[in-house]
Amino acid sequence: MEKDYRYELTALYGSTVDENPVGVMMEAGYEALGLKYRYLNMKVLETELEGAIQAIIALGFKGVNLTIPHKVKAIPMLDELSEAARITGAVNVIVNRNGKLRGENTDGVGFIIALEKKGVVVKGKKVYIIGAGGAARAIGTECALRGAKEIIIANRSKGRGEKLVSMLKERTKCDCSFVLWNQKLEIPSDVHILVNATSIGLYPDTSKPDIDYNTIVDNMAVSDVIFNPPMTGFLQEAKAQGAVTVDGLGMLAYQGAKAFEIWTGQKAPEKVLVEALAREFE
Ligand code: NDP
Repeated sequence: MEKDYRYELTALYGSTVDENPVGVMMEAGYEALGLKYRYLNMKVLETELEGAIQAIIALGFKGVNLTIPHKVKAIPMLDELSEAARITGAVNVIVNRNGKLRGENTDGVGFIIALEKKGVVVKGKKVYIIGAGGAARAIGTECALRGAKEIIIANRSKGRGEKLVSMLKERTKCDCSFVLWNQKLEIPSDVHILVNATSIGLYPDTSKPDIDYNTIVDNMAVSDVIFNPPMTGFLQEAKAQGAVTVDGLGMLAYQGAKAFEIWTGQKAPEKVLVEALAREFE
């Protein structure tokens, strides 16, 4: 009998990857479809990124995920970009196509699918995003491309917030404005979708964004990018106000499902991925 001991390789590159559960989810998906793929968490320091990117080709990886701090810095090292990666200016998935490296951004679409699974659509809606980093850029871009009526970006630092607003105005047709977040935030009552896209609340930080939580009303959908813990203080407050809540695990699962499809060319077994990820937080 002919034997094949070789696996296709996929990985996560980031400076802190020890606690990232995406590999468990990906490997559950590979196993469910009987694919000879592996997924490894790899600690890649900023100074080593270039060599690590070249290694994708040298070692014949199918592709990698990028996390903090590589999503933006990797761009000049790639051969081509998808539309979402180009507009966002950040890459969370690299695919190796016969030695050519293509950068994609599936964070935004992961966010959209997680909302849709809870019956929330973005088209025609007023979206309020707190934060202006990589996650906010990806979410803002995808919401704009999906026809959000209006996007408001609130951020602590003015420069980063204004830069994101002007990028969205330049590259999409969306009506977009900036709010400087230098005091307790009040959420306008006509907002449909509120998103925490800051890193506030990420384990072991138990704090929550400085918001007047009484301004969240029960017809809002409230989402958090933080997935550890899934039920953040921010979401607990929103739930107490009667809002529909969408945790960061959904976004993580569906951005991963899209990466799975890009690397394998097969439809991701979404249920398997979502359940494998959820088990890590039981
Ligand atoms: P960045 O470092 O690019 O951006 C961080 C953002 O948080 C900035 O807007 C920053 O504001 C703001 N911020 C951080 N601390 C504070 C604070 N104490 N007070 C006010 N604002 C603060 O990070 P990313 O955007 O790449 O990631 C953000 C989070 O999203 C991370 O925790 C990451 O794990 C998570 N994430 C989750 C995903 C998922 O699938 N669920 C996917 C991608 C990311 P300022 O500009 O003023 O510094």
